[in-house]
Amino acid sequence: MTWHVLGAGSLGSLWATRLARAGLPVRLILRNSARLAAYHQAGGLTLVEPQQTSLYPLSAESLDAHTPIQRLLVACKAYDAEEAVARLAPRLNPGAELILLQNGLGSQDAVAARVPRARCILASSTEGAFRNEDFSVTFAGQGSTWLGDPLPASPPLWLEQLTAAGIPHQWTDEINTKLWRKLALNCAINPLTVLHNCRNGGLSQQADEVAALCMELGELLRSCGHNSAANELHAEVRRVIEATAANYSSMYQDVAAGRRTEISYLLDYACNAAFRQQQPVPHLQALQQRLRTHLSARGLPTT
Ligand code: NAP
Repeated sequence: MTWHVLGAGSLGSLWATRLARAGLPVRLILRNSARLAAYHQAGGLTLVEPQQTSLYPLSAESLDAHTPIQRLLVACKAYDAEEAVARLAPRLNPGAELILLQNGLGSQDAVAARVPRARCILASSTEGAFRNEDFSVTFAGQGSTWLGDPLPASPPLWLEQLTAAGIPHQWTDEINTKLWRKLALNCAINPLTVLHNCRNGGLSQQADEVAALCMELGELLRSCGHNSAANELHAEVRRVIEATAANYSSMYQDVAAGRRTEISYLLDYACNAAFRQQQPVPHLQALQQRLRTHLSARGLPTT
């Protein structure tokens, strides 16, 4: 069974190369024929790891190819996922499976609505990778990936393939709670690193702001029915700030590189959920407003 990988960026390449290294059939799906030509020019995907750098000449096609798809790893940014999957919908076999790697919340429902007959498995990953240049990715941070089906269902058999490929993962029956917890951590840390122009560790100087956000996020998680995601949230945020003190958050890196952020699927999603729950979240809303102002002053999209 071929692993089709939509999006040969950081995370998509990290998964594709490890699956291929384990001898599993992998096929990349790139956005158009120009990107496909650039990929062939590069000769494959390069994975840079601490001990080795290897080139993987994986097969690839563009979005408008016609081969049927049974298993699709969706590795675009959250804001690209729905449209890209909609383009592939006619190629999905009955009973096809999608694995959605997007951070935050909101894109998963949008994707699932476009492919009502497919099974969508959601992922929340703490692995880290970044692109050095096109089709070359550095594996920057060990981590693990939670996988789960928001509908009651048993784990897929291909989890064994992830094990064979050395992709650390765990199955959970509470994937939405895991995604909410990560969203809350991201909301408490990432926007502040952008606004204060600092590494994660710099937020130890902003303890009151962090505490106020954690308080609102914890209440929001509880009111949305994710009590376990609210447990010890503030303590974990402080731990993450300390443990990743030298790192720049993904949102910081996006803004610094002039790239669009995933704000719609993080802070905006939290604020919209609070609105629906009629829960006041003045600190989150103020943060959202400040971040939008900051992004628009730099000519970046505010959604
Ligand atoms: P990325 O490096 O920007 O890669 C996204 C890829 O998607 C790009 O290669 C892009 O193509 C491709 N793409 C976009 N639209 C497409 C389309 N219509 N058809 C085909 N390909 C398309 O992003 P990333 O860092 O891997 O992040 C992906 C998701 O994983 C995000 O939601 C992110 O938050 C999450 N995540 C990332 C990490 C990490 O360490 N990187 C960790 C945890 C979670 P082009 O190359 O042509 O632009």
